[in-house]
Amino acid sequence: MTLEKNNFIITYDENDSYIPEVVDYLESRINDIMDFFELKSLSSKKKIIVFKDLEKYKEHIEQFFEYHDYMCADTNDGNINILSLEAAHKTKMYADMTLDNLKSVILHEFVHICQQEKEMEHINDDIIWFWEGLATNLGNPEEYECVPINASNDDINNFNCSANNYPIAFTIGKYMLEKYSHEEILEYIKYPSRILEDSEKILNDAREWSNQNNKTR
Ligand SMILES: [Zn+2]
Repeated sequence: MTLEKNNFIITYDENDSYIPEVVDYLESRINDIMDFFELKSLSSKKKIIVFKDLEKYKEHIEQFFEYHDYMCADTNDGNINILSLEAAHKTKMYADMTLDNLKSVILHEFVHICQQEKEMEHINDDIIWFWEGLATNLGNPEEYECVPINASNDDINNFNCSANNYPIAFTIGKYMLEKYSHEEILEYIKYPSRILEDSEKILNDAREWSNQNNKTR
């Protein structure tokens, strides 16, 4: 089945009767996110594909990367691909995924879509902590808390192998949203080579901020 809205068209299995509720949630939240990115519209209506078949989702992922159990949603092809609740429940990592978690994940992916739209240049090694910092803060902050950052900059940059990577990215993102102007952050979004240049300083400052923040609580 499909449901079409201004910014996206979602395809799902008719047995996944909760999807209209997910669509209502997205509709209630995406305007604020598009405003943050100063996007009046998207370049094209994005597809959201809800995979009811875990094996098909693995095949989709493997066009790009090796599949890992922690993967349940992605924007690798410029659209949002996500496991249905039933398919997620077949994985170890998402065996307990709730409808609220699924709504959060899909909105998180929508933030990635907006960031892709806003980029004016592309660098080969994306600064993953910046992407995940924005997506966790703007898309699904209800799922994270700030943590003291103890990891080294190298570890943070080696994102996919780093322990506690999403809470750390959330903390760095929160630091940036508090300390940098909206304009500065938009510049980093548009020109990722600039955040690459400034990344050591940002990470050092975010680490200090996170540790002070933690002490005063
Ligand atoms: Zn993400």
